[in-house]
Amino acid sequence: MLKGKNVIVTGAAKGIGKAVAIAFAKEGCNIVLNYRSSAPDDTIQEIESHGVTCLPVQGDVSDFEFAAALMKQVKKELGSVDVLVNNAGITRDMLLMRMSEEEFDSVIHTNLKGTFNMVRHASSLMLKQRSGAIINMASVVGVVGNAGQVNYAASKAGVIGLTKSVAKELAARGITCNAIAPGFVETDMTDALTPEQKENMLAMIPLKRYGQVEDIARVAVFLAENTYITGQVINVDGGMVM
Ligand code: NAP
Repeated sequence: MLKGKNVIVTGAAKGIGKAVAIAFAKEGCNIVLNYRSSAPDDTIQEIESHGVTCLPVQGDVSDFEFAAALMKQVKKELGSVDVLVNNAGITRDMLLMRMSEEEFDSVIHTNLKGTFNMVRHASSLMLKQRSGAIINMASVVGVVGNAGQVNYAASKAGVIGLTKSVAKELAARGITCNAIAPGFVETDMTDALTPEQKENMLAMIPLKRYGQVEDIARVAVFLAENTYITGQVINVDGGMVM
């Protein structure tokens, strides 16, 4: 069902984004692999080993013009955008009283405005096609909040509001828009936490294990395949939030 579809994954050089890109490649999808810093040659090779096209595109999702140019390039080189996975995200954790304006703005710019930029430009192509699936990476923190993450939680709560609004606007044209809210997934992002913080997290997970990137990737593929699910936030968190 997904074979031959064109899938954009942002921030796909490592972590969850990389796993999502590989999972869609395994389904026979062509991958537009957005990355910000260095070209992820090993990931590109792995994607191509599944006999699909991989189009690597370097750029910053928080740049509105970059998002526009990316869609133009994808339209020209692949013809359509069937699935958009807005995965690129950052953290700049700090307690509220010590959080700088820059720490707040940078997280909102990448996580929330970056998602808006990509959705805004992809949706004009999807509207013409009268089909498409948009999947946004939120976080359980955007649902329940977290001390030390006022910026990040606000950005992810914003992503959830954006997801539901986009779902309502675009449903009549056969376009779905959903969010995945991971809990604690083992990646470079969570590796920055102290051993004590990690222990505390584990204690809050009923299934008693950290999430793996593949746990999230499987849900992204599921949401792309199901044309009758929209406006939902799927917690993938070992039962952390229920
Ligand atoms: P990660 O390992 O830090 O990877 C994030 C990726 O996003 C990196 O490849 C990074 O590229 C890219 N990126 C950051 N800013 C970008 C920008 N402005 N434009 C383009 N790419 C950008 O993080 P992760 O754990 O895989 O997280 C992926 C997503 O899941 C994020 O949205 C995160 O908030 C969300 N999430 C993660 C967890 C978790 O437990 N890991 C939990 C909840 C939600 P560079 O390396 O070049 O900076």
